[in-house]
Amino acid sequence: MTDGEHTDRVQLLSADALRRTVRDIFAAAGCAGDEAARIADNLVDANLTGHDSHGVVRVPLYVDWLRSGFVLAGQTARVVTDGGSFAVLDGCRGFGQTIAAQAVELGIERALEHGTCVVALRNAGHIGRVGAFAETAIRAGLVSIHFVNVSDSPLVAPFGAVEKRFSTAPFAAGVPLPGQPVVLDFATSLVAEGKVQVASYGGKPLPPDALISDEGELSGDPRVLYGDFGSADLRRASSGTGAIRAFGEHKGSGLALMCELLAGALTGGGGSGPVGPEFRGISNGMLSIYVSPSRLGTQDEFERIGREYLDWVLAARPIDPAVPVLAPGQPEERTREARLATGIPLPTDTWTAICRTAENVGAVPSR
Ligand code: NAD
Repeated sequence: MTDGEHTDRVQLLSADALRRTVRDIFAAAGCAGDEAARIADNLVDANLTGHDSHGVVRVPLYVDWLRSGFVLAGQTARVVTDGGSFAVLDGCRGFGQTIAAQAVELGIERALEHGTCVVALRNAGHIGRVGAFAETAIRAGLVSIHFVNVSDSPLVAPFGAVEKRFSTAPFAAGVPLPGQPVVLDFATSLVAEGKVQVASYGGKPLPPDALISDEGELSGDPRVLYGDFGSADLRRASSGTGAIRAFGEHKGSGLALMCELLAGALTGGGGSGPVGPEFRGISNGMLSIYVSPSRLGTQDEFERIGREYLDWVLAARPIDPAVPVLAPGQPEERTREARLATGIPLPTDTWTAICRTAENVGAVPSR
């Protein structure tokens, strides 16, 4: 959401107060203190970077999943295969914030040792903003590439179709150039599902062609995806008949398919469907590749050529002189800086839903 939009329905909260609120909710809901804090940090960081779709708007649903047993507190990723420079991990349906952090830590450690590491993670709870993991690898001086899918979560129509087949299957890559790291991180759907959630709670409206009805009509109405809902109802895509569209026509649709095949099939976790009669909640799969430029022996050239090239790209004459050309990752850096200074704008409906969840679990929201 652009800060300042919909000001009548938006309130500003400090990152610290939001973190405390979210941490206390998950602690009261049954997570150990460190896990509750990790979930809070991850969600609030998504808001700080401007990705409200993967921020605290998720709290009611995460708590619902915890209570339903779809996601489990206090899990440790199980090592299924360990080949040194490659590993398969099973997240055992633990919180994605915990499980993915463990997988990334292992990938980084092994890539620093061997030069490269491939980590195939399956059955992790929702891992949130994937770019956060590319940023962790960047801090360790590593290039990383992440293909992600969401099992049992068909939301997106393939190119030329009206039926849900793909998950929103995000792709992310991080490149640690000195002074200006590059972080590309996006859903392969035209909009992330969380953006449909945000719109359904009164936040930023969707583009009018983001969704497609089962009759092939383009739409920006969240009801196409969720069916009819009241303001207090959880949004469930299984209740609607339409789909989100894949981005980039046949090319984006193809990348989504690759995410499903690499993160869903190669990891052994599962594709986005078909969903069986017993829905057990969604889980993320992630195939990550970590590369150490230093172990490759090209660190100096990588930094020099990469940085010179990036500067040349960023110096391209902009269409509008008032709108500079940016590197992927720069919008998030700028939004983080601004929101740390002025606060995080939350739609009133989102804050109300968080307060209701706090009340349900016996926590007290901080302001
Ligand atoms: P988006 O459409 O906002 O695109 C974000 C990417 O585009 C970033 O890399 C950003 O730096 C870059 N970008 C934006 N404006 C730019 C500009 N002017 N110049 C250059 N680069 C620019 O992202 P999205 O598709 O809405 O995805 C949002 C988030 O949702 C991502 O963090 C993604 O990981 C997450 N997600 C997670 C899951 C999951 O299952 N865990 C599923 C889907 C999406």
